[in-house]
Order: sequence, then structure tokens, then C-alpha cells
Amino acid sequence: MALTGELFIGRRRTSTAQRFQAIDPARGEALLPAFSAAGTAELETACALAEAAFDSYRSRPPQRRAEFLEAIAEQILAQGEDLLARAHLETALPLARLTGERARTVGQLRLFAEELRAGEWLGLRVDSALAQRAPAPRADIRLRKIACGPVAVFGASNFPLAFSVAGGDSAAALAAGCPIVVKGHPAHPGTSEWVARAIVAAAAETDMPAGVFSLLNGPDTALGAALVADARIRAVAFTGSRAGGLALMKIAAERPEPIPVYAEMSSINPVVLLPAALAGRGASLAREFVASLTLGVGQFCTNPGLVLALGGEGLQSFIEAAGAALEAVSPAVMLTEGIQRNYVRGVERMGTEGAELLAQSSAGDQNCARAALFSVTAESLVHRPRLAEETFGPASLIVRCRTVRELRETLERLEGQLTATLQMDAPDQPLAQELLATLERKAGRIVVNSWPTGVEVCHAMVHGGPFPATADGRSTSVGTLAIERFLRPVCYQGFADALLPPELRADELPHWPHRFDGERRLGRAE
Ligand code: NAP
Repeated sequence: MALTGELFIGRRRTSTAQRFQAIDPARGEALLPAFSAAGTAELETACALAEAAFDSYRSRPPQRRAEFLEAIAEQILAQGEDLLARAHLETALPLARLTGERARTVGQLRLFAEELRAGEWLGLRVDSALAQRAPAPRADIRLRKIACGPVAVFGASNFPLAFSVAGGDSAAALAAGCPIVVKGHPAHPGTSEWVARAIVAAAAETDMPAGVFSLLNGPDTALGAALVADARIRAVAFTGSRAGGLALMKIAAERPEPIPVYAEMSSINPVVLLPAALAGRGASLAREFVASLTLGVGQFCTNPGLVLALGGEGLQSFIEAAGAALEAVSPAVMLTEGIQRNYVRGVERMGTEGAELLAQSSAGDQNCARAALFSVTAESLVHRPRLAEETFGPASLIVRCRTVRELRETLERLEGQLTATLQMDAPDQPLAQELLATLERKAGRIVVNSWPTGVEVCHAMVHGGPFPATADGRSTSVGTLAIERFLRPVCYQGFADALLPPELRADELPHWPHRFDGERRLGRAE
């Protein structure tokens, strides 16, 4: 089945006169077909349908929504090679990577289905009535969490499957009971169309309301800005640039009724090489570091963009080994011409800001990135804070510290991060302990003896962190806890059983984990 370039507004497909095309980043050629760009009318219809679907969708039993998520996963898999081939063409990401990313996408949809059935996310609590309490009786008081409303999801350029149309943000919002209006990333509209077809088919198969999903495409920022400003949208999920995230936060905050924006924006993911680890296994750390830095052409938000260590022989050997490994890296095509241009500018900025270029991989063809390794002293970094800004791609900066104090102070000056990593051996334990409090304040995830790239989708994952890593460091965009972003607690006081929502009624409550008069009860969820 060929791509049509249509928009998906609820279950209806539609075309518009304004068109745009995806560009093959490896060849710089426009790809067929041309895709319809959504205008005001399509945005209006999508938001109206999402609003109309909200109560009906959120009141579907969790088991039914779980079946919907599982059906999306099945439909994505059923598209087979067509989906992967188009994603490869639009992103230049290798097929093996895309196959893994599809598995992750399907896996996280299934994980949220399991989470829905387990029921902890409902947050059920009961404080039973105290009719005889003096001086005043207490009514029966119950709590559950409900979906917050229609969510605008921005597809990310660097994860065309796992953080795009049916990616982690969509899975979390749909699990919570929120209809979604997706603003597809203009770099991969064909991939988006394939995935949209999967969602629409799954919605029909599991009898979900029409407005549970819409996909709006468009090649400029006006569409996304209007979507965030629409009064029917109740939350925003975004992964992309700091400038983009900040622009959306501003629009959301200036609405008559402001809404939360869960934006994942920029992080340089500091890695601290502690002395014993550096002395004992510096060469292998260097190779592992370069592999992490250049994975996916460095286009990961968890890319290790900053390395800190105490100066000395150990660090010198690390630098030599890392430089040699980096120079051997083959040039590779970046996701878009814009991202490649930003990367080249970022590398130039590191030079003009006074960082010393230690090593660089060879130049490539169209849209290729040359991996680059720089170095600076901790003292210089104090006066050149721009060196600690994200350069999205395979570039990293090694910071040479003279003392432990200088190392700690450098960490303290960093902005909020998605991750912070410690490479350590047993003798490093006291220093690791000393740095931990600072790292906890800076990062959403602290990694010991592995590398920050490769984010596990699981229950205990935090892919978040203080600003500017994310707009709201209290949440995560990966893992089952991500559902919390789209929920809101509601308290029911003095309700007769028949009027309560199903999960809080006497017959259903025992099936779900809950707290009853403060006591934790496990529930018997099917
Ligand atoms: P982007 O420019 O932030 O765009 C992401 C999405 O947000 C697109 O759909 C874009 O719409 C929309 N958008 C951006 N600015 C907007 C605004 N002012 N108002 C409304 N919508 C807006 O990110 P990108 O295209 O993926 O890559 C550009 C740069 O972002 C990269 O060079 C890199 O620096 C950074 N990036 C960072 C991460 C990370 O994880 N930290 C991930 C990806 C990218 P349109 O495309 O329609 O304009």
C-alpha cells in the first residue's frame, strides 16, 4: 500500500492544497509523495474531535485501553518492512537501529498496557466515613486519578518511531485516558503516516472513539504554536531543541488557562572519570566512551557531551586512546540538513570559545558529521560557560580539573541534566559518595560504570531532570512513571456507592491496589 500524504483527523483522512515533502538526508533529494500541511480548519477539527472523545475514552475500563495499546503494537509490527524502509529513507538511520527502535516502540506500548491492568497508576485511596467522630463526623472520602484532557504530542526528529507518533509520550497519554493530537515531525512524514495508519486501525478494531487520535503535519512552527494555544489541549509533550521547548512553554504559560509543557530539551550528560577507574582501565574506558559518543551519530539526548577528570597521567592516556578511537570513526549522515548545520556551528563555537581540538574524525559527504573531541581546563570553563551548552551530535568536551574541589565546583555550576555518570572502581567509593549529593541535584538519572546512551524502558527509569534537561524535573518521559504527567487526582466526598466511579465502588475496589484508611492493600487486578 502506497503512502498518500493525507492528514489523519480522527478516523477521516483529508488533503489540503499546501504541500511539503520529506528530504532524503543522505542524498538531499525530495521524497514522494507530497504531504498535506494542516491549516486552521484541520487543527480546529482535530481539537474538537479530541475534546468530544475525551469523556468517552477516559471512561473506557483500563483493560479496554490496554487492548487498544496492544492492538497499536500489533498493527505496527504488521506493517513489516514498509515502515522500516520509509523510516530509513527519511532519517538515514541504519535498518538495524530502526528495527531495534520499533521493538522498543512496541515494547513500551505493551508495557503501558500491563501498567494499566496493574492499576497502581489509579492512585486509589479511601478514608472511610467516621459518623460518630466528635466534635464533627467525617464523610466517606475517596480519591482516584483521572486523565487530564487532550494532549498535544510533538514527534521528535531523532526517534522516528520510539518518540514520535506512537512513541513514549503518545503511549503514556493514551494509557492515562487522554486523546492525542500529534504534531508530526516534518523530517519523517511518511514514517508518521505508516504509524498513524496503525493507530487508526487499532482504534477501529478496539472500538475507540474517533477523536482519540489525530495526526497533523506541517513544515513550519505556526501549526505547533496554534496547537499548544488551543483551549481544548490540556498538556503538551515535546522532545527537541531548547529554543523550541522554551517557545512552547511560553505559549502554554500565556494562555488564559495555562497548561503544563513536558519538554525534554537539552542535556550534555556529564561523565566523571574517577582516579582509580582511570588508572586501572583508562584505555577501555576511552573506547567505550567514543562508542557511546558516536552511537547514532551522537543524536541522542543522553549523549556524553562532557567528561570531567582530575588531570594527570591517567587522563592523558585516556585522551590519547579516545582520540585514536575517534579518528577511526567513519563519517555518518545526520537526521536533517538543519541538525547537521547546527552541529557544524556548535563545533565551530567550541573552537571559538577557546576549547582545544584534540581529535576529529574524517569528513564525509552530504549531511555528514565529523565526530570531535575537545578539551579545556576547569578554570577556563568558568569564564566560558557557553562551552557547556549542548552541541547535538558526536562532539564532547573533556574538562581537566586540578583538585577534587575544582571538580565538584564544576559539577555544581552545570545546568540541569538528564544523566550524570560515574566511572569508578572500589578505591573511588569515598569520592563518589562525596559527589553524589551534587549529582542528585543536577540529574534525573545517575549511572555507575556504564554509559548514558541506551535508556531502558522500565518501571524505575527516569528520563527527566532539572531545567533545561526538561521543563519539569518532577517527571519522566520514559518508563511507566511517565503516565503521571497526564493524570490529575480527584477526590469524591460523601458519595453513595452507585455514584462513585467504577474503580472506587465496593465491588471493584478490591481488584485494584489501594490504600484503605491508610493501610496498603495489594488488590487482585486481572
Ligand atoms: P526542533 O527544532 O525543536 O523541532 C521539534 C518540533 O518542535 C518540530 O515539530 C517543530 O516544528 C516544533 N517547534 C520547534 N520550535 C517551535 C516553535 N517555536 N513553535 C512551535 N513549534 C516549534 O527540533 P529538531 O527539528 O528535532 O532539531 C533541531 C535541533 O533540536 C537540533 O539541532 C538539536 O540541537 C535539538 N534537538 C535536541 C534533542 C534532545 O533530545 N535534546 C532532540 C532532537 C533535537 P517545525 O519543524 O514544524 O518547525
